Amino acid sequence: MSSIAENIIRIKRGLPEGVTLVAVSKYRPLEELQEAYDAGQRAFAESRPQEFAVKTTALPDDIQWHFIGHLQTNKLKFVLPWVALIHSVDSIHLLDAIQNWCAAASIKVNVLLEVHVAKEETKQGFSREEIFSKDWTELQNTQYKNVTICGIMGMASNTDDVDRVDADFEEIKDIFDCLKRQNPELKEFKELSMGMSHDWQIALRHSPTMVRIGSSIFIDK
Ligand SMILES: *Cc1c(COP(=O)(O)O)cnc(C)c1O
Repeated sequence: MSSIAENIIRIKRGLPEGVTLVAVSKYRPLEELQEAYDAGQRAFAESRPQEFAVKTTALPDDIQWHFIGHLQTNKLKFVLPWVALIHSVDSIHLLDAIQNWCAAASIKVNVLLEVHVAKEETKQGFSREEIFSKDWTELQNTQYKNVTICGIMGMASNTDDVDRVDADFEEIKDIFDCLKRQNPELKEFKELSMGMSHDWQIALRHSPTMVRIGSSIFIDK
């Protein structure tokens, strides 16, 4: 049985330079996060607001905290003051709420737009059509002054069909590239978050800048 430290080292060895490993620590106890921290891991991701709030206060200050779960507008206060990057902004309604909260608190927050390409109905996110129906440069410069749009997050279909998963990542990458081309003024638009424990090697074929890996690091004992 390999340790958390060994898992991190092994995964990092498989990542090209410039790809950030975000350790998905949701549901894991503080001791396991501390173990990963002691192995040099600094980027962690949580998916539940209250758990996020508890862990950010309990662990060292130099951790970069990511949020990857569905975020309800009444839970923003648990997340926004401490978050480095929200990967899971899946609606205009949520963007508006984040903007209002940040403006009132005089802070800025970094977000990724979550896109939906997988064939499952259950997954959250903007469809390709919704994403391309908006002028993101205009929105960034007028409505979302406290929200920095930093890129795209996506998930592939949850299937063993490698070709299907590969095609999903290819589509997410295509959406990212098109948006980037259409919005040259969005200087911070450069992050592409895709790939999880079971599919990050496939995601790497399509040049993500971040992978989000949980179970391959924190294995049930
Ligand atoms: C849980 C989760 C992950 C990590 O999944 P693993 O299979 O444990 O690596 C990545 N991204 C999101 C959005 C998640 O909810």
